Amino acid sequence: MTLTLNNFTQLENFGHSLRAPSYRFRPECTEEIQEIFQLAVENELTVTARGAGRSYNDAALNGGGIMLDLSMMNQILEWDSATGIVKCEPGVTLEKLWQHVEPDGWWPPVVSGTMKTTLGGCLSANIHGKNNFKKGTIGEHVLEFSAILPSGEMVTCTSEQNMDLFYSMISGLGMLGIFTSITMQMKRLYSGLMRVDARPALNLHEHLADILENAPHNDYIVGWLDTTHGGATLGRGQIHASNNLKEGEDPNAQETLKLSYQNLPDRLFGVMPKSLLHYFMRPFVNNLGWWGVNTAKYVASLRKHTFLQSHAAFHFLLDYVPNWERSAGPGGLIQYQSFLPKETAETAWREMLTMALKRGMPSYLGVTKRHRPDKFLLTHALDGFSLALDFKVTEGNRSSLSQMLKEFDRIVIEAGGRFYFAKNSETSAETARRFLGEETIAKFKELKYRCDPGNLLESDLFRRVFG
Ligand SMILES: Cc1cc2nc3c(=O)[nH]c(=O)nc-3n(C[C@H](O)[C@H](O)[C@H](O)COP(=O)(O)OP(=O)(O)OC[C@H]3O[C@@H](n4cnc5c(N)ncnc54)[C@H](O)[C@@H]3O)c2cc1C
Repeated sequence: MTLTLNNFTQLENFGHSLRAPSYRFRPECTEEIQEIFQLAVENELTVTARGAGRSYNDAALNGGGIMLDLSMMNQILEWDSATGIVKCEPGVTLEKLWQHVEPDGWWPPVVSGTMKTTLGGCLSANIHGKNNFKKGTIGEHVLEFSAILPSGEMVTCTSEQNMDLFYSMISGLGMLGIFTSITMQMKRLYSGLMRVDARPALNLHEHLADILENAPHNDYIVGWLDTTHGGATLGRGQIHASNNLKEGEDPNAQETLKLSYQNLPDRLFGVMPKSLLHYFMRPFVNNLGWWGVNTAKYVASLRKHTFLQSHAAFHFLLDYVPNWERSAGPGGLIQYQSFLPKETAETAWREMLTMALKRGMPSYLGVTKRHRPDKFLLTHALDGFSLALDFKVTEGNRSSLSQMLKEFDRIVIEAGGRFYFAKNSETSAETARRFLGEETIAKFKELKYRCDPGNLLESDLFRRVFG
C-alpha cells in the first residue's frame, strides 16, 4: 500500500463541542498500522487511535496529526458458544458483539450506555457499566490482548504475562500502543429479559442511600437525577435496580433470546422515524424546556413498579434516539462525570448542583452509579458513586461554564474524588496530578517512554493532561 497525506478531515468529539482536523487513515490489518506509523515518523506527525469517536472529550482527537481510525478492523475472529470466550479485532462494536453472542445465551459482562463504542476504545478508557460495583471494569474480563507498539513490536498481554502492560494499556488512552486483538469472557444469560424495579428517590440523601443499600442485592443499579430542582428536593430522581432472570425463570427463554426480541424499534409509536426525533427535541433543550421535561419525568417516576425489559433496552437507553446529542444545538454538549467516595459524595454534589442552579447553568441530564476500585493504572473508579452531568455549550456560556467546571474540580479533589478520561474535557494537568498521584503519573510516563520513546502516540487529551 502506498500511503499519502491527502485525507485531511475535520473530526469531532461525541458532543460536537470540539473540532480537530487530522489526516484520517482506516487500516484493515496490523501491517497497515505499521505503515501508517512509518509515514507519521517520516512526516514528523503524531498518531491517535480512534474507535467510534464516542468519547465526550478530546481522547480521540489529534489536531494536525494522524487519526488511526480502527473501524475497519471489525471482525469477530473466534467465538466459542460453549465457554463464552470471544476473540475480536479492536474495531468490533459492542453492538456487533452482543448481537453475535446473545442468541447463544451470553452477554458482554460490562457495557457502556451506548452500544456504538468499539472494544479498542472501551479497553483504552477501561469502561464501566451499571454493574461496576459487582463486575468491575471491562478490563477485568479481558483474558488476553495483542497490541502493536510504535516501534512495530507486537506484544501479547494477560493479567500474568506482560502484567505491567496489561494493567496500563487497559485504561492507557491509546498512548502506549494499539490493540490489534482482544479476547474476552462473556457472561451467561438464561433469558433475553431482565427484571427491573423502578422507584422514586425524594432527595439526594435518599437517592444515594438507596443505591448504597440496594446495590449488593442487584446485578445492576443506576439512578436518574433531576438536575433542575434545588432546595429540599435537590437530587430527587428515580432508581432502576435490575437483575438477570435465573435459569428456569423464563419459560420462553428460547424466544426472548432471539435477536428480534432485543432490537430497539427504529420508529417512535411505529410512525415517526427516530432518526428525525432530535430535531423535534431541540426547542426543549434550554433551561425552561428541560425543567419541564425533568418535572414531567419525575412525576411519572413517582409510581413504584417492576417490569421486564430486554437487555438491549435496559443497557442502551441512550441509543433510543439516534444523534440525540445534536439536539443541544451548534455549540454541542459536554459531560462532567465525577467519582466520589461514598462518605463525601452527598456534600460535594449538593454544593455543585446548587452552584449550577444559582448560576443559571443547570445540567440537563444527571446519572448516578455505584462503583468499586480496580487495579488499572489510570483508574477512575473508587468505593463510592459517580454522577455524570450533561451541559449544553453555547457561545454565551462557554467561558462561564468552563469556569464553573474548574470550581467543580476543586470541590471534587478536596472531597477525595476522581475523574474519568473518557468524559471530562476540562481536567487540567494539575488536577490529574492531584487525583492520580505523583507515583502513578511517574509510572505512566516511564511506561510511555519504554513503549513510545519518540512520543509517536499523542492525542489532544494527552497534550492537555500529560504533555
Ligand atoms: C451516549 C454515551 C454513553 C456512554 N456511557 C458510558 C458508560 O456507561 N460507561 C463508560 O465507562 N463510558 C461510557 N461512555 C464513554 C465511552 O464508553 C468511551 O468514551 C469509549 O472509550 C468510547 O469508545 P470508542 O470506540 O468510541 O472510542 P474513541 O472515543 O474513538 O476512543 C477512545 C480512546 O480509545 C483509544 N483507542 C481507540 N481504539 C483503540 C485501539 N484499537 N487501541 C488503542 N487505543 C484505542 C483512543 O485513542 C481514545 O483514547 C459513553 C459514551 C457515550 C457517547
